[in-house]
Amino acid sequence: MSSVLIVGGGASGLMAAITAARCGATVTVLEQNEKPGRKLLATGNGKCNLTNLDLSGLCVRSEDPAFIHSVIAQFPPEEIVAFFNALGLRTIDRDGWVYPATEQATQVLELLLMEAERLGVKIKTRETVSGIRKELTETGKRRFLTQTATWEYASDTVILACGSPASAVKGSSDTAAVLAEALRLDFIPFLPALVPLKIRGNFASRWAGTRIHAKAMLVVDGEELLEDEGEVQLTEYGISGIPVFQLSRFAVRAIETGHDTRILLNFLPDLTEEELTDELMNRLQAHPDRSMAKMLVGLLPDRLIPVITGEDSGRDLKNLSLMELGQRMEELAWHITHFEVEIRGAAALSQAQVCSGGIRTEELNEHMECQRIPGLYVTGEAVDMDGACGGYNLTWAWASGFAAGRDAARR
Ligand SMILES: Cc1cc2nc3c(=O)[nH]c(=O)nc-3n(C[C@H](O)[C@H](O)[C@H](O)COP(=O)(O)OP(=O)(O)OC[C@H]3O[C@@H](n4cnc5c(N)ncnc54)[C@H](O)[C@@H]3O)c2cc1C
Repeated sequence: MSSVLIVGGGASGLMAAITAARCGATVTVLEQNEKPGRKLLATGNGKCNLTNLDLSGLCVRSEDPAFIHSVIAQFPPEEIVAFFNALGLRTIDRDGWVYPATEQATQVLELLLMEAERLGVKIKTRETVSGIRKELTETGKRRFLTQTATWEYASDTVILACGSPASAVKGSSDTAAVLAEALRLDFIPFLPALVPLKIRGNFASRWAGTRIHAKAMLVVDGEELLEDEGEVQLTEYGISGIPVFQLSRFAVRAIETGHDTRILLNFLPDLTEEELTDELMNRLQAHPDRSMAKMLVGLLPDRLIPVITGEDSGRDLKNLSLMELGQRMEELAWHITHFEVEIRGAAALSQAQVCSGGIRTEELNEHMECQRIPGLYVTGEAVDMDGACGGYNLTWAWASGFAAGRDAARR
C-alpha cells in the first residue's frame, strides 16, 4: 500500500487526502495550524463559493491556461458538485456560481473532515513543514523524508498543498516558495491578486466610503486590456470591489514589470455619452440656478461629486452661452464615463484573496507531479494559477488535489 504525505490541510490538501485514501493509500496530512481548513472557512464571506459551472473567458490565469483547463477537465465542476452532493451537501447554483444551500463554509469543511476520518486519513496539526528530501532505501526504493520541528516523516510520495501567503487568514505562508527554491523547482514569485488597488493623487480621501455600480477598464501603456462591471468601492487609498479584483492581478503584474497602468472608471455605464450629455443639458435647463456640483445631486453619490467637478464645483453656469454649455456638458459626460486613475500598486498581501505566481506549470505533468522529481506533487495556489472571482480558485484546488491524490496513490 502506497504512503502519501500531504503538506497543508487546506482545500486542495483535503481533496488530495480523500482521493488518495479512496484509491487505497495510507494518507497523512501535516497542517501547521491548530485546525485544518481555516482559509476555506473564510471563502465567499463564510458562504463558500464552491465552484463555477461556466469555465469560459479569462476565468483561469496562468502562463499556461490550457494546462490548467486540462487538469480541471479531469474533475470538472459538475463532478465537483456531485462529489460534495454525495458527501451530503445540498448545493445551489446562482448563474453558475455554486454555493452550499445552507451558505455555510463550515459545513463544507465539516463534511470533508468527516470523510477524511471515515477513510482513516491521519491529520497532524501544529506541524510546520520546513524541508523535504529524497533518499534511496537499502532496497533501492525511492522515498521522501519530510521535516518538521519535531519529526521526520517518511513516505512514498509527497503532495505540496501549502497554498500561498495571500490574506490575513492564519496559516497563509510562503512555504511553497521556500520549498521550491530548496528543491530547485522553477517558481514565479508570488504577487497579490484579487486585491484592492492603490491609486496616485490626493483626492481619494474625498470619495472614501462610496459604493457605486461602475465599469472598470484596465489600460496598460495606453492599450485597453480588460473590463469588468459591478459594485466598485471607492476607498481612502484607491479602489476595491469585485470589478477591481477581477482586473487586479493583471494591473499588479503590469506595475511590477514597469508598465504605465491605469483604470478608467465609468460611473454611469447604463448611459451612453450622448445620453448623459442630454441628461446634463436637461438638468441645466430645468434648474438653471444650480452650480455645477448641485446639478449632479441625484445623479452621482455625494462624495464623488466634488472629485468629478474639482475646481469647478461651485461654478455658476448661468452666464455661459448655449454653445459653451453644450461643450461643458460634453466634457463633463466624458469625465464621468472615463474617470482615469493611475495605479501605483496593490494593497497589502494580507488584503489579497489569492496570489498569482507559484511553481511553473512546465515543471508538472497532467497528474500535478513534478517531472524532474517523480513522486512529488503540487496542488492549489502553490501552482502558477489564480482564478477570477466566482469559485475558480476552489475549482482549481479541488481539481488539482483530485489529480494529485489519484496518481500519488497508485505509486
Ligand atoms: C477571504 C477569502 C475568500 C475567498 N473566497 C473564495 C471563494 O468564495 N471561492 C473560491 O473559489 N476561492 C475563494 N478564495 C480562495 C481560496 O480560499 C483558495 O484559493 C484556496 O483555499 C487555496 O487552496 P490551497 O489548498 O492551495 O491552500 P489553502 O486552502 O490556503 O491551504 C493551505 C494549507 O497549508 C497550510 N500550510 C502552509 N504552510 C505550511 C507548512 N509549512 N507546514 C504545514 N502546513 C502548512 C496552511 O496552514 C493551510 O491550511 C478565498 C480566499 C480568501 C482569503
